[in-house]
Amino acid sequence: MPFICPVCGENLIEGKQSFVCRRSHLFDKAKKGYVNLLLGHDGSQHGDSKPMALARYEVMQSGLYAPLKEALLAAMRAHLQAPCVIADCGCGECYYTCAVSDTFAQAEVLATDISKEALAVAKRRSPRFLRAVASSFNLPIASGSCDAALNIFSPFAKEEYRRILKPGGLLFMVIPLEKHLLELKQAVYESAYENTPKSSALEGFSLPEESVCDYRKTLSGAELSTLFAMTPYAIKTAPQDVQKLESIDCLEVQFSFKIFVYQKQR
Ligand SMILES: [Zn+2]
Repeated sequence: MPFICPVCGENLIEGKQSFVCRRSHLFDKAKKGYVNLLLGHDGSQHGDSKPMALARYEVMQSGLYAPLKEALLAAMRAHLQAPCVIADCGCGECYYTCAVSDTFAQAEVLATDISKEALAVAKRRSPRFLRAVASSFNLPIASGSCDAALNIFSPFAKEEYRRILKPGGLLFMVIPLEKHLLELKQAVYESAYENTPKSSALEGFSLPEESVCDYRKTLSGAELSTLFAMTPYAIKTAPQDVQKLESIDCLEVQFSFKIFVYQKQR
C-alpha cells in the first residue's frame, strides 16, 4: 500500500481498526472511515470547516460541477490505463475522487486532505478507497508509487506531486479560468476581479494535453448562497454582502476551467 508512516516513512499496513508500520507506529481509523496521518495535530481546524465542506457537498450533489467531472474523467480515460494507483491530494469531500474510483474500478485510489471535516463529509458518498488527513506539502505517500495524481482547485505542492509520481506518471490539474463565477462575484462585490491567468509551464513535467471546460448555469438566490459558501471568498466577505445573494431571483453564472494533463519526465 502506498501510504507511509508519517513518523518513520516505513510502509503502513492496514488492519481492521488501524494502520501500523513495522516500527509499531499506530494510527487509528476514525469512525467516519479516514485515518489521521497529520503529525502534531492539536485538534484545531485545518483547511475547510464543516460548514464549508457541507456547502460543497450540497453544491456537488446538485450537479453544478457535473460537466467538469465528466470532462476530467474523459481526460483520464484517454491517458490512463487500469490497473493503476491514483492519488487525489486535497480531495475535499471526495466528489471527484468517488467518480474516479467508480470509473477506474481496478485502480487503487488514495485520497488526502488537510481537513478532517471534509473527509468526514466524504463518508456520505460511501467511498471505497482510503482517506487520510494529511498536508499536500508533506504527503504520507511513498515516493514513485503513483501512476496518476489529481490536483483540483487545491494547494499545489509541486515537489511532493513530483516525488509521489512514477517516472512518466500523470498529473491531472484543474484550475479556474478568468471568468469562472464572475457574475457571482459581481453580485456580491462593488468591484469584482477576474481570476488571474496561470502559466501552464511546470518544471520537470511535459504537457501532453490541455483543454477548456466552459458552461453556464442559471441559479436561484438560495443556490447562489450555497455556491458562494463553498468558495474561498466566503470567509473574507461581510455578512451583509453575502446576504445580497438571497434576494436574487435568478442569475446566469459562468463556470470556466482548464484541465491540464501533465506527465512527469522519465
Ligand atoms: Zn513508523
